[in-house]
Amino acid sequence: MTKKVLITKEKYNISLISPCFNEEENISKFIERILALKLINELVLIDDGSTDNTVNKIIEIQKKHSSKKSLTIISLIQLTRNFGKESAMLAGLDYIKDRYDAAIFIDADLQHPPEIIPKMISAWEHGAEIVTAVREDREADTFIKCASASIFYKVFNWLANSIQLKANAGDYRLLNHQAINVLRSMREYYRFSKGLIPWTGFSSVEVSYHHGYRYKGSSSWNTIKLLKYGIDSVFSFSDLPLKIWSFIGLIISSVSILYSFVILIRTIFFGIDVPGYASLIVAILFLGGVQLIGIGVLGDYIGRIFLNSKTRPHYIIRKLICTDKQ
Ligand code: UDP
Ligand code: MG
Repeated sequence: MTKKVLITKEKYNISLISPCFNEEENISKFIERILALKLINELVLIDDGSTDNTVNKIIEIQKKHSSKKSLTIISLIQLTRNFGKESAMLAGLDYIKDRYDAAIFIDADLQHPPEIIPKMISAWEHGAEIVTAVREDREADTFIKCASASIFYKVFNWLANSIQLKANAGDYRLLNHQAINVLRSMREYYRFSKGLIPWTGFSSVEVSYHHGYRYKGSSSWNTIKLLKYGIDSVFSFSDLPLKIWSFIGLIISSVSILYSFVILIRTIFFGIDVPGYASLIVAILFLGGVQLIGIGVLGDYIGRIFLNSKTRPHYIIRKLICTDKQ
């Protein structure tokens, strides 16, 4: 038997933060399903530089919506260009500031079913500081996406210094008031919310959901983008790739010292052995490769320091349109 969840909307102020990138085909249906919940005080849509009709569609809906008596404010934050989903999520957090008791991140393509929001709110009402929606299945993902996700979680959890990621937990999460403020105060350039949120250490409760297919359109993540996102995420949470070179260096140096003794003894007892071109070339190439990888990893971390030191804004807002302010 399903437990009935009773929630009175007037009790709390809750906002939804939804990044949108080229969602013209999904946005009407998405807003319709959110409004049907009659639970949300403000739906914050962040247009992340869409090149389709998403913005006009949202403004059209806002115009119709403002004439109706509704408890939900629909706000649109239009960014000047595509800054990426993580920056769009941060723009939403910055916009709501500390005006809400809880905020929920949700995708606009309906892969995150809004109908589990009452369950998430209920878990929060019962004391959870964070509520994480966890996918029951990966049927909507291609074989490559499933396999790469599984490898990513394993590598991340092996390398990460301070947290362990829960597989199949995405960005569909509820944050309480305190968690909103903490996440907002974390301004690092490479953002990986799936790691940053558990890193805060707030208590989390899981709610499972069926992760369906996109309502319309296709995912904006290709294999290269996912790979880059994966590497960025690991490097943001681990300094092991940086430290491991000292260890590798130590092993190679120890082996070379041992080998030099072998050569020395061989030379003393058997004279100079001229052949050895192949082993010499292999050793030079191998060491050259190892050194280049090491320099590459160093460069990556230095690049991060460089980007963070510039303290450029994570996003730039072109326009802000809210239904209650029209
Ligand atoms: N999105 C965004 N900026 C981007 C890419 C995606 O705001 O550069 C939004 C997108 O509109 C959707 C959510 O992030 O609401 C998830 O994107 P997508 O469905 O492409 O990713 P997937 O579900 O395949 O991980
Ligand atoms: Mg999606």
